[in-house]
Amino acid sequence: MHAPENLKPLLQEILQQALTVNDGKVADYIPALAEVKADYCALTVATLDGSVTSVGDSQVAFSIQSISKIFGLMLAMERMGESLWERVQMEPSGQPFNSIVQLEWEKGIPRNPMINAGAILVSDVLVSHFSASKSALLSMVRSLCHRENVGVDSRVHESEREHGARNSALAYLMKSFGNIEADVEEVLDHYFWQCALTMTTEDLARSLAFLANRGKCPLSGKQITTHRDAQRINALMSTSGMYDQSGQFAFTVGLPAKSGVGGGIVAIVPDYGVIAAWSPPLNSFGNSARSMAMIRNLANRLGLSVY
Ligand code: GLU
Repeated sequence: MHAPENLKPLLQEILQQALTVNDGKVADYIPALAEVKADYCALTVATLDGSVTSVGDSQVAFSIQSISKIFGLMLAMERMGESLWERVQMEPSGQPFNSIVQLEWEKGIPRNPMINAGAILVSDVLVSHFSASKSALLSMVRSLCHRENVGVDSRVHESEREHGARNSALAYLMKSFGNIEADVEEVLDHYFWQCALTMTTEDLARSLAFLANRGKCPLSGKQITTHRDAQRINALMSTSGMYDQSGQFAFTVGLPAKSGVGGGIVAIVPDYGVIAAWSPPLNSFGNSARSMAMIRNLANRLGLSVY
């Protein structure tokens, strides 16, 4: 594997190649995301010795969207232990991330925490178990990425709420089956808020390094989750983190990963580090075309597949 000091030229070459990929379209389901410049492109690798190597727009904070599902899940796993898995499954859905049909068939129990229904269920756990669920999540994220001013884009939060009819439908359907405990509007507000967190690729790579390090933050030495929970989160990312392209991503890249419609993707390389990539234009599955290309090239060049 490449030593960190040799990484920068390789990342530069991979970023330049990715800039020639011109497929895809910036998410436009809300105006605040549609306005983001399509030519942003960033690639960061954080390794377990504490080095962070970046190229491109790695200092620009962007809307992490579905990547926030990992942070919510961590807190919910810690609070609920095994009982969480009575309310959400761990199976790939084979359906779009915001699909509603399966939720009705399965009596309000979401297929997994990486799709919207599952993340809304997780938001219910957080709202029900923390007196201030947003501050609990934000302070965890800030301490994980070692940056105190990580924030939330209030315009994105607001427009998620205004355009959130389908997410509301998922939440009310789960409520009708008795699988949402708190007030539905409060749960949805938490979910929309966490989608609007803004972070850089460096923040993301640093904050998730514990998943590559058996649950322990390599910078502080603090045990963030148990080794088993880190393995479980990685397993869910492997089977369900890349929308309906999770199978193809496992086949061509072979790393646990999570994507968001802001154009970010994080990939975990157990016992090595984290790759975080960002570029806004999305392919037809909702994954950033350039971020996919960058992670695939890097993983193939360094032989990083876990399989
Ligand atoms: N805010 C988006 C939604 O709930 C998140 C989608 C995503 O990044 O997958 O529809």
